[in-house]
Amino acid sequence: MDGLMMNIPLTTNSILEYGNRVFPYKKIITKNPDGSMHEYTYHDMYNRTLKLANALVNKLKIKPGDRVATFAWNNYQHLELYYGIPAMGGVCHPLNLRLSVDQITFIVNHAEDRVVFVDATLLPLFEKVAHNAKNVEQYVLLNAPRDVKTTLENYIFYEDLIADEKTSFTYPETDENSAMGLCYTSGTTGDPKGALYSHRSTYLHAQAINSPNALCTSSNDTLLLIVPQFHVMAWGAPFSGMLAGANMVLPGPHLNPKALVELLENTGVTIANGVPTIWMGVYDELKNNPRELPAFKKLAVGGAAMPKSLIIAYMKELGIEVLHAWGMTETSPLGTASRLQVHHFNLPVEEQYEIIARQGVEIAGIEIRITQEDGAIAPRDGKTVGEIEVRGNWVIKEYYKIKSDNFTKDGWFKTGDVGHINEEGYMTITDRSKDLIKSGGEWISSLEIENAIMAHPLVKEAAVIAIPDKKWSERPLAAIVTRGDKKPDIEELKEAMRYAFAKYQIPDVFVFIDEVPKTSVGKFDKKQLRKMYADGKLI
Ligand code: AMP
Repeated sequence: MDGLMMNIPLTTNSILEYGNRVFPYKKIITKNPDGSMHEYTYHDMYNRTLKLANALVNKLKIKPGDRVATFAWNNYQHLELYYGIPAMGGVCHPLNLRLSVDQITFIVNHAEDRVVFVDATLLPLFEKVAHNAKNVEQYVLLNAPRDVKTTLENYIFYEDLIADEKTSFTYPETDENSAMGLCYTSGTTGDPKGALYSHRSTYLHAQAINSPNALCTSSNDTLLLIVPQFHVMAWGAPFSGMLAGANMVLPGPHLNPKALVELLENTGVTIANGVPTIWMGVYDELKNNPRELPAFKKLAVGGAAMPKSLIIAYMKELGIEVLHAWGMTETSPLGTASRLQVHHFNLPVEEQYEIIARQGVEIAGIEIRITQEDGAIAPRDGKTVGEIEVRGNWVIKEYYKIKSDNFTKDGWFKTGDVGHINEEGYMTITDRSKDLIKSGGEWISSLEIENAIMAHPLVKEAAVIAIPDKKWSERPLAAIVTRGDKKPDIEELKEAMRYAFAKYQIPDVFVFIDEVPKTSVGKFDKKQLRKMYADGKLI
């Protein structure tokens, strides 16, 4: 039809161009493996990224659509790869370095990666994968000393690869629906599965992250990207950050709480993202060694439920806003986010924290619905529970080269998460379907119980799992990690829980452990915990 708008492809190349054109002086700060700091501007990054794009074409002979993997921490070279690989039509495939050797090998082979960019600090691990990596022709080493010792064959140094390339590059014609990135799920059940992101989905997702109901990022912000670049592309922050024109801070391998607090303090970070485990550690560090962080205004948390007690600790004690978000590798990841709305400000503060502890409302561009066991769509009444289904422009419509029955006939993705939506549109996740506890025919939500236990001042972490029971088929067990040597009185704790829970929902068994086992991306690994307690031996 005549008279319509222009149609310019939504690509990550246009994000790179925008960043260089409008914010060339903005900073990208990296903490190197040796602890020294690297700082350069968007413009420096742009020049090196285009050199890399040239090198991928000229030296490595990468063709559009080829997968190029990374095995690296969050750093400036990894950022260049995020933009440089898609710039020439390749697919940037970050590998999760916390998975097992077998899982990483499976993923490299499944993706048919042709080149892998490996950080020298990770060589001992990757060498074990390389034996069986069938399609890899070339390794490129990041942060490697000249006299590096490695069993990898056919390797070159990153700086040598890009050194004599030009800082101008002619992008190939890029269809916005072509692939630019590939991330595999962390594979807690079955083999990891790939989510293939398009230029368009990544662009739209980056805009959604910056929108006021989500992170509300602007060119006045400095973002600390704690979420690893190997986990759902650092939650899209490398793209949303540049689209906002924000300074970016990349912690390299230095992810311990003390190092993170130092970065928050020394680089003027205003917003940071991370899973709840990270925020638990940072909170403890701030309690033990109090520090003024005047610039730090907001943290984005997701990947697992943020305990209400921790939300209160950050918001009330430290004056830091908590943006609690929900998403998955399959949803790029941003799906929902929880913020207070103006009509909530009159509510008692306790109720306000309750709202933030929910997973939140759909971000524009995403739709969610709850499907009950009988297939009916649940009403938005805040109590009817079912499986959460999602659709939107940055949700996968199939897995990469794997058939799956996680998709409905009418085009929704079945998340495997269980929860409800209330009248105001706030979604609450009560469990992963596989983590639900069914006791005497009644469902018990492990997340709600964990939240209640973690509200106890002596408790650092609590994970609740099902253990087999002759009479009730399953009963909840609570595994607790304390903050110090002192343990909470279990009888008192149970008594306190009686206000909010039915008797059958309260765990009979409480065990004290040193640490809750964690998955590759720092979430409670309940599969592992169930294994530990399945036969009741450890109780
Ligand atoms: P991943 O693909 O590794 O990012 O894992 C996605 C899963 O993490 C989701 O399906 C949820 O089970 C869980 N998850 C993510 N965000 C939250 C949240 N805010 N609260 C509870 N669970 C979450």
